[in-house]
Amino acid sequence: MKAKNTKQFITKQREFKNNMSDLLFQRIFNLLSNGEFDIIVTSKTNGEAGYIDYENYTIYLNPKIFPIEETLVHEAMHILKPNLDERSIVEMSSLMFEKLNNTKRDKLLAYVQALATKYIGIKKSELKPTYI
Ligand SMILES: [Zn+2]
Repeated sequence: MKAKNTKQFITKQREFKNNMSDLLFQRIFNLLSNGEFDIIVTSKTNGEAGYIDYENYTIYLNPKIFPIEETLVHEAMHILKPNLDERSIVEMSSLMFEKLNNTKRDKLLAYVQALATKYIGIKKSELKPTYI
């Protein structure tokens, strides 16, 4: 009886995590679709994988430091959850990375290519998804 409850609890937890990450992905795709933010792909970020310039509505991504899809998810979470601190964003992003399959990676990279207004120190043709 107890084991069954534990199993049910774990199943519920897993469902909750799946629903939560699906919902967050949907919100990230909506955010990117509305075109409010430009993207600049650059190899010059002073060691940062990415950051946001809120004044100019621009997301900077450096694919030479970290997989660009994962950095995009991370930076988008900052925009969607402005009140969360870095640690909480990292925790939420890692929940999302578990669900980051190749289809989602393709979709995120397509958004980067559609939204990128500038490439600095890296060519558009060099951008490749980081398949698992
Ligand atoms: Zn961050």
